[in-house]
Amino acid sequence: MSARARTHAAGTAPALTPIPERLLLGAGPSPVPRSVLDALAEPTIGHLDPVFVQVMEETAALLRTAFDTANPATLPLSTTGSGGMDALVVNFIEPGDRVVCGVNGLFGERMADALTRAGAELVRVEAPWGRALAVEDLLAAAEPGLRAMVVIHGETSTGVCQPLDGLAAACREREALLLVDCVTSLSGQPLSIDGDGVDAAFSGTQKCLNCPPGLSPFTAGPRALERLGARAQPPRSWYLDLSLVGAYWVGPTDPDAAPRPRTYHHTAPVNLIYGLREALRLVVEEGLAARWRRHRRAHEALRQALGVFGFERLAPAEEALAPLLALRVPDGLDEADLRARLLREHGIEVSGGLGPLAGQIWRIGVMGVGARPDPQRRLVQALADELGGGAGEALSALQAGWEQ
Ligand SMILES: *Cc1c(COP(=O)(O)O)cnc(C)c1O
Repeated sequence: MSARARTHAAGTAPALTPIPERLLLGAGPSPVPRSVLDALAEPTIGHLDPVFVQVMEETAALLRTAFDTANPATLPLSTTGSGGMDALVVNFIEPGDRVVCGVNGLFGERMADALTRAGAELVRVEAPWGRALAVEDLLAAAEPGLRAMVVIHGETSTGVCQPLDGLAAACREREALLLVDCVTSLSGQPLSIDGDGVDAAFSGTQKCLNCPPGLSPFTAGPRALERLGARAQPPRSWYLDLSLVGAYWVGPTDPDAAPRPRTYHHTAPVNLIYGLREALRLVVEEGLAARWRRHRRAHEALRQALGVFGFERLAPAEEALAPLLALRVPDGLDEADLRARLLREHGIEVSGGLGPLAGQIWRIGVMGVGARPDPQRRLVQALADELGGGAGEALSALQAGWEQ
């Protein structure tokens, strides 16, 4: 039989690699709870089925709670976090727009790249990798004529949280939009889209929301939508054009108005949305404020425990991002080999550094169910096993951190 005939014959499917259990304590994806996996396995139904429309409504309402916003235009885009970044840029930035972009890590660099490609006149405001941007520097760059300011709220490449204080007021004064990447911060670090005056923001499902990757929660407020409506040319991307996606996702903004028929734009990834709905239900059940506190406590507890092995946090305490603990690797440690052993021998994933920090830092996720004592104990015990001691002291430090 020829090779081709063989592959076309029945009964010749190859054996597939089984999927192992992993404890995901890297920069994402984060651990997915059983109830979210079960939700993903519910029957697929039509994306215009009245029941699915109900599911969409519930998901959007839960998402508003997570973002702490009343924005009707709040929906999960059918794309990963990076697609959310593209959506932010293509909808709200026009060629020639003067845009301030904060750059202090990989995701700021990517944002600057996306803005440049969209034809923005870019004003980069920088800080060293591992530090937040000085708010004064951002404000000083916000000259009259500014159209937008873009910052990364949780810089996952360095574990730094960007303070947003004062940015919204400065943007409003200049009629500029405040646009924010909150992929890693959403539900793990205090953030209020309405309270902080953010005009539009995007996130991802595989960080603190504990969902598989593949959706980008997105929200846009009235000032951003007005900008979109006033564009000289429609956004370059058909798929990510919010006015087209919104016609499918967003119900009427006036509660007394008749429901607007949803029009087909693309086929929503139905099962992923079941998963997100359940993941968001867990967020809302815990309560945002309690969840933020838990992430901070988990971050500090793990930092203290890993300090026993000589790991030191990269960011200063007041700039640290709760969901992502970035630590300097102790001198003389073969970090890549140690990460490989953690994965192979213990089934635990942690992430290495990116760009200029490759080989120098570890990035440990403190995200959702990963921000609990049990998974952290497993990591600490595994590290002690691999490093040949220190378990007792490190586990006590972890325990003490959780009791604080
Ligand atoms: C993970 C991440 C992204 C990209 O999300 P993908 O789902 O990997 O496309 C963007 N920004 C930040 C801050 C992130 O942490």
